[in-house]
Amino acid sequence: MAILPCRTTLVARLGFQPQFITMDNKLLSTLSYPSCASSKIRTLQSLSSTMADADYYSVLGVSKNASKSEIKSAYRKLARSYHPDVNKEPGAEQKFKEISNAYEVLSDDERRSIYDKYGEAGLKGAGVGMGDFSNPFDLFESLFEGMGGMGMGMGGRSARSRSADGEDQAYNLVLNFKEAIFGVEKEIEISRLETCGTCNGSGAKPGTKSSKCSMCGGQGQVVSSARTPLGVFQQVSTCSACGGTGETSTPCNTCGGDGRVRKSKRISLKVPAGVDSGSRLRVRSEGNAGRKGGAPGDLFVVIDVLPDPVLKRDDTNILYTCKVSYIDAILGTTIKVPTVDGMVDLKIPAGTQPATTLVMAKKGVPLLNKPNMRGDQLVRVQVEIPKRLSDEERKLIEELADLNKAKALNSRR
Ligand SMILES: [Zn+2]
Ligand SMILES: [Zn+2]
Repeated sequence: MAILPCRTTLVARLGFQPQFITMDNKLLSTLSYPSCASSKIRTLQSLSSTMADADYYSVLGVSKNASKSEIKSAYRKLARSYHPDVNKEPGAEQKFKEISNAYEVLSDDERRSIYDKYGEAGLKGAGVGMGDFSNPFDLFESLFEGMGGMGMGMGGRSARSRSADGEDQAYNLVLNFKEAIFGVEKEIEISRLETCGTCNGSGAKPGTKSSKCSMCGGQGQVVSSARTPLGVFQQVSTCSACGGTGETSTPCNTCGGDGRVRKSKRISLKVPAGVDSGSRLRVRSEGNAGRKGGAPGDLFVVIDVLPDPVLKRDDTNILYTCKVSYIDAILGTTIKVPTVDGMVDLKIPAGTQPATTLVMAKKGVPLLNKPNMRGDQLVRVQVEIPKRLSDEERKLIEELADLNKAKALNSRR
């Protein structure tokens, strides 16, 4: 079984791990691919030589006051025709990247308004992430996914084509708090359509011969005409009897003519450290089988993480609140604190103020794809003041109060 990331450049870095995909822009940029590095080099060069700004609006062919949906549809249209998988002309990939960069800025209200006011240079000056771009292929896939990826809308498939790519499948995987943090290997059982073994995917009963479709005469298309007050209109549509193939055959008994049958399969999955609820792993080619030679779809594993009763997760940090008595806050102490690595000693320094946050460095969540880097555990100190005092305690506190008064008087002299 092949679990392959969608860009081959990732194989070397991740090994045979599923690719991590998320809609969160911040996470996308942490997963920058080599192609992003080259786009940075390009921007540097253009800065030093020409200083010319790309006009994102003209790149997408929209007006300056174009709506979000106009921008989105312009991007979809252009990205489809310049995607290097379909457009082999020189410069197509470059153009594809420019379209993608323009869309990324104009589809984000904050970045668009910075760009409108200050141009490209404004984005670079606006702080971390504003001038960086996501991988154009990820952006493309995030917008086209669920529509059969490249297969749909590319216009390349004629009505008579027999093959169809398999659909992507989704699987919900529930992980406990620590599994998501440190990664885990899981065996999951999926149910998906596989090529029918009886007919080898043809959908025809073995030993029978296919014949010309009587409905369309083998054309795969039917022409219907409608009479309207404006004249007669003719409409060409795919033949419903043969599905556009021009042939009919006795359907296979096993699959009922679909060429595919539902089967369950166990897949072992390596979940990388640092995933969170909503993270998605793509397992290449483990979706539904294609029809009649079409490529199989992908399996998307959607992660859901169960909460921990005491530790809270905030991206790559872990949040925890500890209670310390007012005496310990004044004098300082060492307490035991639960972390994802187990119980760890935490020093509360003398004179710790209420609501102080203490940082336990590198006790947080490993970074996705950089497992040797980790976030922190942030411990908020809640100082407890007693509501009732024993007689002896009250006496001591009153003595302390007298001492304070004397101190105040002395300093006034
Ligand atoms: Zn069959
Ligand atoms: Zn037909």
